[in-house]
Amino acid sequence: MKGVTFLGERQIRIQEYPDPEPGPGQAVVTMKAATICGSDLHVYRRSKDAMKGVPQVIAGHEPCGVVRTTGTGVSNVRPGDRVSVLHAIGCGNCVDCIKGYDYRCRKMDTIDGRPWWTGQTGNKDGSFADQLLVPARGCLPLPDALSFIDGAIMACAGGTAYEVLTKLRVSSLDTVALYGLGPVGLCAVLIAKGMGARVIGVEPTPERLALGLTLGVDHGINAATEDVVEEVRRVTQGRGAEVAIDFSGRNVARTNAIHCVGFGGRVGFIGHTDVDLAIQPSDLISRDVTLRGSPIFKTDTYFDMADFLIDHAISLERTVTHRFRLEQAVEALQLFDTQRTGKIAFVWD
Ligand SMILES: [Zn+2]
Ligand SMILES: [Zn+2]
Repeated sequence: MKGVTFLGERQIRIQEYPDPEPGPGQAVVTMKAATICGSDLHVYRRSKDAMKGVPQVIAGHEPCGVVRTTGTGVSNVRPGDRVSVLHAIGCGNCVDCIKGYDYRCRKMDTIDGRPWWTGQTGNKDGSFADQLLVPARGCLPLPDALSFIDGAIMACAGGTAYEVLTKLRVSSLDTVALYGLGPVGLCAVLIAKGMGARVIGVEPTPERLALGLTLGVDHGINAATEDVVEEVRRVTQGRGAEVAIDFSGRNVARTNAIHCVGFGGRVGFIGHTDVDLAIQPSDLISRDVTLRGSPIFKTDTYFDMADFLIDHAISLERTVTHRFRLEQAVEALQLFDTQRTGKIAFVWD
């Protein structure tokens, strides 16, 4: 099979690997779709020095496909099953795993060479490959009504967007300002519209703002040329938004997110690009603002999200602007690196 590794400084290698075979408790998934995530760029752009000591594993962590074969002791999936695959697969037995927080498990298997909050570094081969070997526990059934690309997006970007919108209890009562219309923000547009909210999209890149508008953004704000907070207040009759979520990780957007909500506003932080940010406590206290961070998503969220997407006829695949074969990985990553596209997917027949 073929697989893609990141070498640092935007260089990659596409090479042949032996077909993986499952050990006890493992499954091998034949890849049908693997989407590229913004966080893949963090590894892709790393300096060669920073790559030293990082396990040279196959990249990619948004996998979806069909189970090819399973090892002994596997009962949750069987060959032929359509599955989306978690990229942080917990042990299944610790308190975090039992509560659904696989991504907090200290014994988790993680793929693709990215660092984790737990201090672990992904040390297993990822999804930019024809096949993926994983603990079978990480294979989640993909309903027939959802496409393989839907399933790949749900494995990271979609799940992350769904999780924060449900945490902030978004509903048709709300005007929601979404900062950053990259892949996660675009998923949030589709999901927030499905929840009935009115959506304001805030984005400095014209291509992405236009994409957001085609996906249902009710009011677009160009963050490069407009006074964002003023504009949010204008379109909410001076009240401010009920909810604001930052996906960009940029401090100017985070600060605007806090400032653009009205009394009792709910604010979520997802993106983590800039490190330090001074927040004025009075901004939170005087307007009774709730601020929440949200890392990826709980394992049980996947099932709620699948039901929600089907019930509301939402296809996260609509966020995809480009599809490539794995052999075109150099071109695909160079294009995604411009940060002017929607989601980009590798697809197989
Ligand atoms: Zn991701
Ligand atoms: Zn665990």
